[in-house]
Amino acid sequence: MSNIVAIVGRPNVGKSTLFNRLTETRKAIVDDFSGVTRDRHYGVSEWTHHSFTVVDTGGYVANSEDVFEAAIREQVIIAIEEATAILFMVDVTTGVTDLDDEIAALLRRGKKPVMVVVNKVDNNAQQSDAAVFYSLGLGEIYNISSMTGSGTGELLDELVKHFDDEPVEENTLPKFAIVGRPNVGKSSIINALIGKDRNIVTPIAGTTRDSIYIHYNQYGHDFMLVDTAGMRKKTKVKENIEFYSVMRTIKALEEADVVILMIDAVEGIESQDINIFHLAEKNKKGIMVVVNKWDLIEKNNKTTKVFEDMIRQKVAPFTDVPIIFTSVTEKQRVLKVIETAQKVYDNRKKKIPTSKLNDVMLPIIESFPPPSIKGKYVKIKYITQINGVSPMFAFFCNLPQYLKEGYYRFLENKLRENFDFTGVPIQIFFRQK
Ligand code: GDP
Ligand code: GDP
Repeated sequence: MSNIVAIVGRPNVGKSTLFNRLTETRKAIVDDFSGVTRDRHYGVSEWTHHSFTVVDTGGYVANSEDVFEAAIREQVIIAIEEATAILFMVDVTTGVTDLDDEIAALLRRGKKPVMVVVNKVDNNAQQSDAAVFYSLGLGEIYNISSMTGSGTGELLDELVKHFDDEPVEENTLPKFAIVGRPNVGKSSIINALIGKDRNIVTPIAGTTRDSIYIHYNQYGHDFMLVDTAGMRKKTKVKENIEFYSVMRTIKALEEADVVILMIDAVEGIESQDINIFHLAEKNKKGIMVVVNKWDLIEKNNKTTKVFEDMIRQKVAPFTDVPIIFTSVTEKQRVLKVIETAQKVYDNRKKKIPTSKLNDVMLPIIESFPPPSIKGKYVKIKYITQINGVSPMFAFFCNLPQYLKEGYYRFLENKLRENFDFTGVPIQIFFRQK
């Protein structure tokens, strides 16, 4: 179900302009978390009910001339390995350049769907100029103007045809992904959990292209760990380490039911961590935070609380997530991590019977009804949980259009207080009845 679209191409062709356009529907939400959007090179986009993650490779390119072309080449190779589909962007105003030809050659050899996106086709006269890009030998070309948005609809209509939106039910065990920046302790915790068995379960070299599932079946737990830890060594250009790790993280995240976001207690939570958190939230995954290397922190009786508050403040508004403090090297609370992940998994699967939902929520709504707007009163009649992979609730009422964000938050908080959805994003819909 994981759909990752990478935008590749030379600098200045307009990759980030397209990226912003594709992700802007959600931008209003993302922008609330100030400070984290500027260095964001991936985001969630949606087109005709298909949801996908877009990665803008441009953000990872080095500035110095000598590594630059090598870095782009390597990015293309990584994109071929990791992405579902590739948007290869070129610029109609410059025509085909040597680097375009080189990238095209790499893409022709790869097995992934590639769409040639000819950008800066701002007017009709340029449509005919775009035809030179058929010489790239990658089939159909898609003329767009990232600036005005023209042509992007047709592009997306074609793009989504490459998606596989059927959930792969190869395995019904819970899937937990341990993600986080390099060096936070991901490998260490996996080793602590599975120890010497690791060699048995890690696939042989050559299959590492896909996320590695590790089956954990001990102490009454039975689940799959999605391993992103052993993925650093593959890049040659150091600037691409982050790009590569982001691609793997997104993939692991999309495959997982619960995302275990690990951070280093000494380093604290950084914008990259917050980006991952929001990506998990937008993908409606279960989420928990593990603060590792707790042994390195000098503590008094307030330290934990201060840390927790700081983290919740940074990931707001979705703050109802478990935060566990571990020391993997000192074997502190390692099992607590998987117990908590299991709890989050159960919360995500939870189904509240309609009668119970109404017994609890209707009296609350009666005591705190939605505020009237222009003399109109919204009457909520009943509530049901809709079937889905993550919790969704429909509130049936006479005038759904009059219910506002504030009341949405109120209902969400009341659902959380009464039914325990810790670690799980929930969705509320107001429906006409
Ligand atoms: P990137 O380096 O590939 O990410 O390219 P950017 O998105 O930063 O764009 C490079 C330049 O091209 C910027 O000055 C953009 O404003 C401009 N640009 C992007 N898309 C278009 C377009 O559709 N038409 C025109 N005329 N300019 C564009
Ligand atoms: P990864 O890159 O996220 O997989 O991180 P590693 O598991 O390779 O750990 C990076 C370094 O942090 C290693 O030297 C570990 O021994 C160390 N480390 C991991 N967990 C802890 C911990 O809880 N406390 C301390 N002090 N060091 C840790």
